[in-house]
Amino acid sequence: MTKIEKLLRDLIALPSVNPAFLPPGDPHAGEHRVADFLAGVASRAGLDVQIQRVSSGRSNVLAVLSPRGKVRQRIVLAPHMDTVGGSPLPGEFFKPKMRNGRLYGRGACDTKGSIASMFSAVLEVASAKQRPSETEIVFAALVDEECAQTGSRTLGASGLKADLAIVGEPTLSQVVTAHKGVLWVQLLTHGKAAHGSRPELGRNAVHEMALIVDALETDYAQKLKKTRHPILGAGTINVGSIEGGKQPNIVPADCIISVDRRTLPGEKVPAVIEEMRALLRKKGLKPEFRNMQPLPCLPLFTDARQPLVAQLMKAANQKKPLGVNYFSDAGVLAEYGMASVLFGPGDIAQAHTQDEWIAVKQLEQAKETLVIFLKSLA
Ligand SMILES: [Zn+2]
Repeated sequence: MTKIEKLLRDLIALPSVNPAFLPPGDPHAGEHRVADFLAGVASRAGLDVQIQRVSSGRSNVLAVLSPRGKVRQRIVLAPHMDTVGGSPLPGEFFKPKMRNGRLYGRGACDTKGSIASMFSAVLEVASAKQRPSETEIVFAALVDEECAQTGSRTLGASGLKADLAIVGEPTLSQVVTAHKGVLWVQLLTHGKAAHGSRPELGRNAVHEMALIVDALETDYAQKLKKTRHPILGAGTINVGSIEGGKQPNIVPADCIISVDRRTLPGEKVPAVIEEMRALLRKKGLKPEFRNMQPLPCLPLFTDARQPLVAQLMKAANQKKPLGVNYFSDAGVLAEYGMASVLFGPGDIAQAHTQDEWIAVKQLEQAKETLVIFLKSLA
């Protein structure tokens, strides 16, 4: 068994399901087991370990490899420690299993695989003769990517400056410089209840909502297709849930839908909500809007011509930058002024699945690319 495979097995065996996806007190919840483990390995390897508290019982772990000389630039490697759950949550998720070169287990791909590759790369560079003389390398294992990104938000707000943040996500060991943002919003219609036998005395909130759903899924969706980003394509809209009315013999007074809108670089939350509002208003529809997100999840767009990004792409043997549709911690760190990209082993197609796995070859490949990149730094 290779060292990197052993490391990933150890990580999978430590459950770190995001507490948001489990009932209170569930023994599989929380990132603390993974955090303690990484802090232990990092300090034994001689790295400077910092625990960054995010919320009660949840902390980011920073392991810093300082250069021999003065710090002139800083690279952050930022995978996340939390995973999704799965229902019902079988204990099997946390027993790593190897089959045909694939390691199975919860988090194998999203993103304990990235932790294994990034951490191994930092440890390898730490013990190498040739290592950057002016670049500080910060390995930052983060909490809560899968829910509210409080880990990356805390790291960003700590004031840490980075010349490049490489966020661990399963990109098949390719550099991703752009992703869409995500906006979750509820729309509410308010009508007037009446007896089902006298519908003319009421106002049907479900009917108004039906028109709204139709307008969003047809006219608005069409309108979005007209604006295309060169890497990301068009923004999208999805009406994900609907709830309204109580029973057949009552005219429904209320209806509510929740909507997922994927945004493109340059799109801001208030403008997007206003765009939807205006389109509906033209049709005489005036729902109430409620933003479901306490903090925005903005799109990512990093210029691939930036020297450090180009250098990482060169190490990955990659000519063109890539984009993905899913949101990540990179969008958050970019908001805090860090040039950010996504990079990590494995395929997003296996993330969040019931039989999540990663190809062990991918782990080695991602690590090698990172080692080449880190050693090429001044
Ligand atoms: Zn995920």
